[in-house]
Amino acid sequence: MRPVVFFVGVGMVILGPLVTLSAFSSCLGTILSGNVFACATEIIYFVLGGIIFVAGVITAIVGVFVPDPIPAASTGSLGGPIPQQSGVKVICKKCGNGYDSGLFFCPSCGQRQG
Ligand SMILES: [Zn+2]
Repeated sequence: MRPVVFFVGVGMVILGPLVTLSAFSSCLGTILSGNVFACATEIIYFVLGGIIFVAGVITAIVGVFVPDPIPAASTGSLGGPIPQQSGVKVICKKCGNGYDSGLFFCPSCGQRQG
């Protein structure tokens, strides 16, 4: 899952109906003022809102199902025993708890890396 893509999609899902709604309210006002045919220009916003909504749903689904980009494995390439890249799991030497290497100590027992 890619949260950024997912939230962009969710934002578009929210934005789409808002565009349609604002067009609809504007359209309704036009109709109530007696000019029914002037409303035709609002159709583009209905379509646009629908497109944004559908695209947002697709973007959100893509964001959920697309796997995370694999972090470049630096382990071994630099010869260092401790992976410094954030997001890499390390195993605590003391208690065996797995935690993010971005932390410099074990959150369970406080044992420092290395
Ligand atoms: Zn520990």
